[in-house]
Amino acid sequence: MINTFKYRIYPNRSAQKAVDQTLFLCRILYNAALDERNDSYKLENKSLNYYDQANSLSFLKENNPCFKEVHSQVLQDVLKRLDKAYQAFFRRIKTGETPGFPRFQSAKRYNSFTYPQGGYSIVGNKLSLSKIGAVRIFLHRPIEGKIKTCTIVRKNDKYYACFSCEVEPKEMPLTGKAVGIDVGIKEFCVTSGGEMFESPKTYRKTERKLKQLQRSVSRKKKGSKNRKKAVKQLSKQHEKVANQRKDIAFKTAKYLFWNYDLIAHEDLQIKNMVKNHHLAKSISDAGWGIFFNILESKANTNAGKQLIAVDPKNTSQMCSKCDEIVPKKLSVRIHKCPHCGLEIDRDWNAAINILHRAIA
Ligand SMILES: [Zn+2]
Repeated sequence: MINTFKYRIYPNRSAQKAVDQTLFLCRILYNAALDERNDSYKLENKSLNYYDQANSLSFLKENNPCFKEVHSQVLQDVLKRLDKAYQAFFRRIKTGETPGFPRFQSAKRYNSFTYPQGGYSIVGNKLSLSKIGAVRIFLHRPIEGKIKTCTIVRKNDKYYACFSCEVEPKEMPLTGKAVGIDVGIKEFCVTSGGEMFESPKTYRKTERKLKQLQRSVSRKKKGSKNRKKAVKQLSKQHEKVANQRKDIAFKTAKYLFWNYDLIAHEDLQIKNMVKNHHLAKSISDAGWGIFFNILESKANTNAGKQLIAVDPKNTSQMCSKCDEIVPKKLSVRIHKCPHCGLEIDRDWNAAINILHRAIA
């Protein structure tokens, strides 16, 4: 199993310059190699592959000595990335899709390079990078497993090292328990056992600020320094919110699978629900898409763990005790059954129904 461990790094001025220069050269190489493939196909009707292009790297370095300043495997990896983009393109054509052609990379998009095998080492709080130097690294958690690759990323003027590691999958204990979950508006999710996970309301809280920033960007002259500054602030704000969302999704998923073997949820066509104006904000807020992806991957990688999607029809209207349909608007937060007298939180009631459906 491959896990990625991401750490902030703090290159000093000269190392930062070297990282920026490496990013620049990698992007130049990527675009040139893309150009070469296109030309070769158009002019000679010949498809170049990774090896064709990798073989001409030494020729490139002879003629453009600046490329000698980049670790050779990093350059090879650039060509591998392009090759992957092509392979993905042709794979999608084969399956009948209409993918976009591999495209030229702008400085904004091309923000990382990879040491695929060697050329880096960690000693204490220093990460030593071939052709760049030693940079301070903040190891906020230990790296686990065997490091396979090291990728340096620049994002919003911050720098990160991402290690892709081969780790032994940690088996989660089997508990013999099943749970239904209802992803909600008020809470992030409620379980059939009545556990409630708070929804991250960060997006709404910072919405005014985001809107302000968006307005401020559109008010500023294109190409101006002030606009660039505002765009940067905006993207930082988005990043913050996305990280918070991901964090709660990971924590909740982990908790659930440590405590239950089977998790049932509604088969939500999130896209359809997003069309509903009132629900839209809460849904994108809670990041359910990410949440279900995480749950799914945990179910797939842990033996004995299962994720089941059930028919969502009437899960919140039906009484979980006597099956009576009790119609209620979205604003009614309590399920109160006139038939059997059950009175519980609306989402809790739904979660119990979801569990019942999965077991039935
Ligand atoms: Zn009832």
